[in-house]
Amino acid sequence: MGHLGDAMAEAGIDTSSITMVALTHAHGDHINGLLTPDGRRAFNNLSKIVIGEDAVEGFLAEPNLAEFRPLLAPINGGDRLADHLLAVAIPGHAPGHMGYLLSTDEDEILFCGDLIHVPAEQFARPELTWAYDDDESMARASRIKLLQDAAHAHNWLAGAHLGRPGIGRVVEEGRGYAFIPAA
Ligand SMILES: [Zn+2]
Repeated sequence: MGHLGDAMAEAGIDTSSITMVALTHAHGDHINGLLTPDGRRAFNNLSKIVIGEDAVEGFLAEPNLAEFRPLLAPINGGDRLADHLLAVAIPGHAPGHMGYLLSTDEDEILFCGDLIHVPAEQFARPELTWAYDDDESMARASRIKLLQDAAHAHNWLAGAHLGRPGIGRVVEEGRGYAFIPAA
């Protein structure tokens, strides 16, 4: 939403060091991060944009991003983007909605896109869905499964609508889950 550059600067990441961006889906509040608020390229050395095959159509429908079309590299769930980076299909929210699992020898973090929109409600009651999910029953099933997996594996979870800092761990609580944000 226009703050990606500031957030990366705060994290000490030089945007010109970024050569590949992996998109979770083609909704405007995500893909327009390829541009700065004043319409310049956010990553001036970008050479590849990874995107779920079924999300490509949505990307092509965004006229502001036409200059990026030659960089699109469609993928599917199960594809490996690098030694420690795996694409994970998370169906339901949008066509080609994709997560990315980054593994190290010590830990794992799943970038889960829009698996969760309302953290105050959907961790405790993962069955709750809403109209921004294209296929609500599929989105519900994905959320229930992934939260269960994340709680059991004690993985990190990073989501686009989790509120600051957007990264944390999931624990079982009552009949649902709770989110423990990274300190
Ligand atoms: Zn979305």
